[in-house]
Amino acid sequence: MDNNLTTTTLAEMKELVRTLNEAAYAYYVEDNEIMSNFEYDRLYDRLSALEAETGTVLPDSPTKSAGAGYKAVSKLEKSEHEFPALSLDKTKDRYALPAWLGGMDGVLSWKLDGLTVVLTYEGGMLQKAVTRGSGTVGEVVTHNAVHFGGVPKRIRFKGKLIIRGEAVMKYADFEEVNRRIPETEAKYKNPRNLASATVRLLDSKEAAERPVTVMAFDLVYIDDGRGIRDANSKNAQYEWLEGQGFSVVPHTLVTPLTVVSELERFERQLPENEFPTDGLVLILDDEAYGRSLGSTGKFPRNGIAFKWQDEAVESRIREIEWSASRTGLLNPVAIFDPVEIEGTTVSRASVHNVSIARALRLGKGSRVSVYKANLIIPQIAETIESTGETPIPENCPVCGGATSVHENEGIETLYCENPDCPAKHVGRFTHFVSRDAMNIVGLSEATLETFIDAGFVRKFADLYRLERFRDNIVTLEGFGVRSYENLQAAVAASRSVKFSALLNAAGIPGIGKDMAKQISRFLGTDAYGRFTGLIAERFDFSAVSGIGEVINDNIYEWADDVSRFEEFKELAGLLDISDDVRSVRADGDNDVQASSGAISPIEGKTFVITGALNGFSNRDKMVEFIEERGGKVSGSVSSKTDYLINNDVNSGSGKNKKAKELGVPVISEEEFMKLAASPVYDPGR
Ligand SMILES: [Zn+2]
Repeated sequence: MDNNLTTTTLAEMKELVRTLNEAAYAYYVEDNEIMSNFEYDRLYDRLSALEAETGTVLPDSPTKSAGAGYKAVSKLEKSEHEFPALSLDKTKDRYALPAWLGGMDGVLSWKLDGLTVVLTYEGGMLQKAVTRGSGTVGEVVTHNAVHFGGVPKRIRFKGKLIIRGEAVMKYADFEEVNRRIPETEAKYKNPRNLASATVRLLDSKEAAERPVTVMAFDLVYIDDGRGIRDANSKNAQYEWLEGQGFSVVPHTLVTPLTVVSELERFERQLPENEFPTDGLVLILDDEAYGRSLGSTGKFPRNGIAFKWQDEAVESRIREIEWSASRTGLLNPVAIFDPVEIEGTTVSRASVHNVSIARALRLGKGSRVSVYKANLIIPQIAETIESTGETPIPENCPVCGGATSVHENEGIETLYCENPDCPAKHVGRFTHFVSRDAMNIVGLSEATLETFIDAGFVRKFADLYRLERFRDNIVTLEGFGVRSYENLQAAVAASRSVKFSALLNAAGIPGIGKDMAKQISRFLGTDAYGRFTGLIAERFDFSAVSGIGEVINDNIYEWADDVSRFEEFKELAGLLDISDDVRSVRADGDNDVQASSGAISPIEGKTFVITGALNGFSNRDKMVEFIEERGGKVSGSVSSKTDYLINNDVNSGSGKNKKAKELGVPVISEEEFMKLAASPVYDPGR
């Protein structure tokens, strides 16, 4: 793959990485310069060139930001900012923004929710990283900053440069870090708390283990801006910073005409944002003009923050619903009096797990405040007044089986312990309603899961008795009276069913659509009655063409599971079952109903397989394929053999010789597949 990566190149890259890291360690950790800047840059450029050429970056390469060696400090030093940071004025009115721009262009960007750090570079090296602190005095966190994403330790620009960036942590990483914290210790409330705590850690080794990224949002000072295409443009400054290796906050250039639509584009991205945000920032693109506006004393006039309304609204807990999932996990969902937030009515919010449910003390009637995180996801902000503990059910709401609380890395979760819980077998139900089975049109997997989790559906027959839950169903989110009626019509239509479809729906291992047809045709008229009758007699189904011992065993394993077989019979009692294909009977009545689906071209044919296979992963798979289509596979070539399958058609093997003697065609796997696919293709004849 890496054609350019020869052993010599790799050895050179390793040596460069080692030398550069040693120098960086001496510089940052020991405050000792063992190499001139000129020499460091020469080696660094050579390494960058090799990395570009080979497409390989060694894990501890200094061109990535990690790997500068670790440093622990006894306390964080204070440092005064050369350029004090002011905070921006805010608005919640998006339509005020075009007028605010006053005919000028602006740069619109996320207002990231983390901790602001100020980075100072000199001579192409990171000199200092200081937290924003009070705005005039912050804390020195250089030892940690060198390990954060988006902070290059060295940049090409050699003058003095000061930038501000926001140290942030992804939601996913926040959850991961919190999971590792034992229950007995305090967990971080949100990604901002965690990012802030990480930036200010005394031991940089610990900081390096937490994925923090710094995103630049302000070029504060540059002593020689000639390298920037248009040094007076904020937008051009951002591009230049990206070119220097910084991560820059996502941003876009706007005019008074486009600012609202661009704002709405950001708004649509909110649900997918990996990083927490706290609104948007609009800054005048023309820096000199912006600076000339000065400040109001409190706020600079060149920028404004936009915030979405996310006020918490008060509501009252009605109940806690425990929604089941396929793993048996039961998730608490708070159901509260419907309230209007950000233009929609909200009445439920996930409470995530038992630990959080307990901490919130969500007894029935508790007063809570509810908000929409990032405008989208309803959350319980806090319990204003609790009426008591959150009830934790002892029985699964789906199957009534016993529940138990599991503890993993300090987080408590509730599980249903019943292996037969329908919630764990959603797949059986999805198969049951699918097109070649009961064909209940429009009953999606998501809806099935909802019905099962809510306890409306525990067994197949329950799908034909949904009217018992009509009132609950029509009030489900996204499920009105119309959807309910459409569903009931589809359920009613599915009651007329061919026996083969019903048999397929039963979900007996190995009996799919084709095999079910095979059995149904064998049974002939009154297929359902004959089927149950034959099972009672313990008839050997391997007499059916295409059925082997394994499938026969599967049938009896299923039928001997009383609950399964009873479920099947109960279901059958609610249906109008027709025979799809009749068997060959003594009266010569062997008309095959044309509508019942095509017969496979290999049905009734006997095959012998020999030699290595290319298309099928193994011989069993091919046997299964043939049997499913009503064919048979035998071990030796005889006059009853229709085809010998051998990819080495001209081999001198015993089976090939025998086949030739008997006039049995020898076909390749490829020819076999053509034969299986086409009723008219007839290889070897
Ligand atoms: Zn259960």
